[in-house]
Amino acid sequence: MAGKPKLAFYWAASCGGCEITITELGMRLIDVGDLVDIVFWPAAMDFKYDDVAAMKDKEIDICFYNGAIRNSENEHVAKMLRAKSKLLVAFGSCSHLGGIPGLANLFDVETMLQRVFDTAPTLDESRGTRPQMKNKMPEGEIEIPKLYERVRTLAQTVEVDYFLPGCPPVVDQVWNVFQTILAGKLPAKGSVIGAAEKTNCDVCTRKKGASGMRIKEFKRPHQVQLDPEMCFLTQGVVCLGPVTRAGCGLPCLNGNMPCRGCYGPPEGVVDQGSKLVSAVASLVDTDDPKVLEKILEGIVDPVGLGYRFGLAASILSDLKYGKKGA
Ligand code: SF4
Ligand code: SF4
Ligand code: SF4
Repeated sequence: MAGKPKLAFYWAASCGGCEITITELGMRLIDVGDLVDIVFWPAAMDFKYDDVAAMKDKEIDICFYNGAIRNSENEHVAKMLRAKSKLLVAFGSCSHLGGIPGLANLFDVETMLQRVFDTAPTLDESRGTRPQMKNKMPEGEIEIPKLYERVRTLAQTVEVDYFLPGCPPVVDQVWNVFQTILAGKLPAKGSVIGAAEKTNCDVCTRKKGASGMRIKEFKRPHQVQLDPEMCFLTQGVVCLGPVTRAGCGLPCLNGNMPCRGCYGPPEGVVDQGSKLVSAVASLVDTDDPKVLEKILEGIVDPVGLGYRFGLAASILSDLKYGKKGA
């Protein structure tokens, strides 16, 4: 890269947590500022879309794009940043796999709008007021982005060069990725970066159950006095460690909470949720379908558990919408 590399950050359908991770670089942000020119970062600096549109194609060296594709604005900016960037990195679970916003794919848009604007118990006198696509203002007519029927990942929208997983990615991994990129030591295009190939179980030091261990009952974390040294599955609490890519440093487990899978499936696993079903089913202590059904009732919201971060990228989404569904 001749001169300082040009860097862009963008947030689409996002909670803002990925942006907070960038700010958590703390004093290291000063080093980032010395090493690169930040040319677009709407969450922190006053750049406009027109500034990006005026750039030459591939003028941005690296773009970190967080958030899913939920509406026409998210898609428009994704396509613009793809054209203007040499490297486009899907940053965080929402961009990588659809993330939490992707759970909306369980419902159609009208059902969601009814819940948000008509029936949510917290609504006040605004109940029943829907956003209008076009509004006349003193400055002229403004138009809000079109909400899509389906939440998509960044890679379901444009070509992506690398994937940095996590909800949000842990800050030390983000720093490692910066350094790897700036040193020009990136792996093959299309790789997951800032994470490992193994699973969280491979790096977890909690005491595992004896070989042949079986589960008679599933419980939620708040229903158990959790032993901080024992494997959660041994205690009858579902942990997504067996089906989740390592690399986060296990902050949830260190806080005595099970892994919820935000780093996505490990290398070679296509669908995290169905892999979880297979992992959990092999631990259940019965061959009787009725008893099995009873034991599995202990897993509340199985889709939200197995696909909390990856529904939009999963085989379930493919079944509902087809791979290229809008
Ligand atoms: S990946 Fe997590 S932290 Fe980042 S925008 Fe999505 S929900 Fe927020
Ligand atoms: S299931 Fe969870 S608690 Fe058990 S070994 Fe794997 S990561 Fe650790
Ligand atoms: S332990 Fe699991 S849920 Fe927690 S940060 Fe790591 S991958 Fe994400």
